[in-house]
Order: sequence, then structure tokens, then C-alpha cells
Amino acid sequence: MDSTLYIIGAGPGDPELITLKGVKALMKAEVILYDALVAEQLLAYAKPDCKLVFVGKRKGRKELSQNEINDLIVFYASRVSCVVRLKGGDPFVFGRGHEELEYSARRGMHVEVIPGISSALAAPASVNIPLTKRGVNESFWVVTGTVSSGAISNDIALAAESRATVIILMGVSKLKEILSVFITARSPFEPVAIIEHATLPTQRVISGTLYSMHEQIQQEKTRTPAVIVIGKVVDEAVNALPTKAPPLCVGGINWQRSMSGEQ
Ligand code: SAH
Repeated sequence: MDSTLYIIGAGPGDPELITLKGVKALMKAEVILYDALVAEQLLAYAKPDCKLVFVGKRKGRKELSQNEINDLIVFYASRVSCVVRLKGGDPFVFGRGHEELEYSARRGMHVEVIPGISSALAAPASVNIPLTKRGVNESFWVVTGTVSSGAISNDIALAAESRATVIILMGVSKLKEILSVFITARSPFEPVAIIEHATLPTQRVISGTLYSMHEQIQQEKTRTPAVIVIGKVVDEAVNALPTKAPPLCVGGINWQRSMSGEQ
């Protein structure tokens, strides 16, 4: 059967942060394979007879391997003409979306990619941290904290040596090591923010300096998923005017006060 696979970015968590093009593809899907970080509300766009297949990690259940997911995509594509693969954030930012594209395209499927808003960009923005600010920084790096072997990425040390803002995904389990690398390469007073559950009602931001964060994380467990942002742009958030209800805060900058305009 001639079938199309849409690989769609669902956005960072808030179900309103998917693209219109993504929603239109969801509405015509016959099968949707979706991940754990995808907002389940998005599945309401599916047709009543659309088959919904969860392929993410869930407590108490064995996780599907990437090969098993690839095979499932091809299995459904041989039976229906429109398959959607719905992935958290952007499918090509640490999402293995391209592996799915290669596998399916090699088996004759027509594949279309619909980009999504990555948590790397959305998490800082949702707490008013600019990724770039004139006069403050000239670039930003997006780095994974953990590589497939489970070790810390070597790029963390390289990023720490640069002057760039560094955004770290999948870094919570390596948080202590990451803070130490940056304290050595930069300064203990470099600003850092950890944005948990970005764009979701449970969003929380923990902020401070690299040094104070070392103390804070002993007292407060970091919840996942979370994005770590390191660099002077973190301090710029304090000057931002309120745009919406402030997120909950632990330590560091008093976000609630600064966002309501009090000093
Ligand atoms: N493709 C995704 C990233 C997948 S890797 C994207 O573009 O966003 C998974 C990592 O993304 C998590 O470990 C976490 O660091 C980050 N992440 C995803 N959703 C998040 C959210 N709502 N809040 C904070 N971090 C998030």
C-alpha cells in the first residue's frame, strides 16, 4: 500500500504548542504512535476510528526498543495509508526521529516531517529567559547531558569552556557532575536555572548560581523532565515584565516578586 508517514513534533508539553500543520495531520491519521512526553489531549484530534498506539516508557512496563518501534511503524504502514508518529518537542532534537525516517523511507514509505517547538527553546522562554540578548551573549549550545552509554557527554566540558549560553537536555541524572565541570571552567557565580515540566501546569523553576545550586539540589529533588540553562542570560529573566501567572519558585531569584513588579 502507498502510505505516508508523518513524523510530527508535539511541542514541549502544553497541548496548544503544536503547529497547525501537526494538528491537520493528526486529524487525518489512521494510526498514531505516540511517546510518553506527548500531551494526551492532542489525541482528541484523532478520528474516532483512529488506532492509538503508546510506544513510550511507562512505569511497570518494559520499554519498546527503537527497532521494535521502527517495525511497528512499517507494520501499520503496510495496512493503512496515513500513519503518524507523534514525538515530544521537535522530532529531530535528541528525538531519534531521523532514525525512523531512514528506516521507513528505505522500505518505500513517503515520509513528511512536521517540526515542533523543542523544549530546548520553549523551557527558557516559558520563564522569560532569553536564549540570546544583545550585549550579553552571542550564541547558545544545546547539549545532551547523557550519551547512549550512560556517561556524561564530552561536549559538556567543551561547552563550559565557551562563552555561550548552554542548554542541557537529559542532564538531571548528571547534574552534580555538570555543575562541577562549569564551576571549574567558568565561575561558581555563573547563573543557572533548572526548568522542570516546562509549559505544563506543574512547571517549576529552580535558579541561582552554580555554587548555590550545588546546595539547593541536596535539599530539593529535581523532577524530570527538566532543562538546565547555564549562562548570564538567566539573570535577564528578572527584568522581564509579567506576561502570565508566575511559575512556582525554589531558591535563587525571587521569580514571583520580580514578575509582579515588586523589588
Ligand atoms: N525532542 C525533544 C527532546 C527529547 S530528549 C525536544 O525537542 O524537546 C528528552 C529531554 O527533553 C528531557 O530529558 C528533558 O531534558 C527535555 N524535555 C522534554 N520536555 C520537557 C519539558 N516539558 N520540560 C523540561 N524539559 C523537557
